[in-house]
Amino acid sequence: MGQITLQGVAKRFGEVEVIPPLDLAIDDGEFVVFVGPSGCGKSTLLRLIAGLEDVSGGRILIDGKDATDASPAKRGLAMVFQSYALYPHMSVRKNIAFPMKMAGVPQDEQNRRIEAAAKALNLTDYLDRRPGQLSGGQRQRVAIGRAIVREPAAFLFDEPLSNLDAALRVGMRLEISELHNRLKTTMIYVTHDQVEAMTMADKIVVLQAGRIEQVGSPLDLYHSPRNVFVAGFIGSPK
Ligand code: ADP
Ligand code: MG
Repeated sequence: MGQITLQGVAKRFGEVEVIPPLDLAIDDGEFVVFVGPSGCGKSTLLRLIAGLEDVSGGRILIDGKDATDASPAKRGLAMVFQSYALYPHMSVRKNIAFPMKMAGVPQDEQNRRIEAAAKALNLTDYLDRRPGQLSGGQRQRVAIGRAIVREPAAFLFDEPLSNLDAALRVGMRLEISELHNRLKTTMIYVTHDQVEAMTMADKIVVLQAGRIEQVGSPLDLYHSPRNVFVAGFIGSPK
């Protein structure tokens, strides 16, 4: 569960090739960070994996099965957005329950998963509040809770902390890393922040203009950047 393979995946919007064909292998349980400057195609690549955009070419395999044409719901992946996308009129409990309701999960199983997610995310005392009555960090936790209860094969995060202030961002970074240690589920995490990439990733994918410049562990990239772009971006001494 949670192994994702991209084979020659490409994306064009009209005349513009935003992502030239690329290959990438993500192992089960890995914490992979896509990092690169604004506009380099990080969100597009994540949306292709999620099935929110159609590829212009190539294949996407999830756990060895061709998922290139599968709907987002069929892929078994859960996306966490920077804008939270919570329902303002629903309680935290109902927000977290929503994807399970859609999937027809039995009520007692829904309750079990909500309690477990709330406990893991320190939301137990907030289940009856509405999103408007929560802090930014708590709202972000609810968005993650809504992803957890789907028991996805992988979590896809698109700059989830960019709306938070600097101090809160450090705390949430630790919480997401801790969640990964606990769940051991594949996570793909998009950021333009090099520090986030270097501190959170098992594997970093450095992107520039839709191309993969280098894939490696934080230490690989630090000690052996393949080119000047990677060295400059990662802040390596070379
Ligand atoms: P990042 O997330 O790294 O900032 P994006 O994936 O959002 O980058 O965008 C990559 C490039 O694709 C940008 O040049 C952007 O303008 C373009 N792009 C993204 N979505 C669309 C779209 N729906 N239509 C046309 N161009 C798009
Ligand atoms: Mg983006």
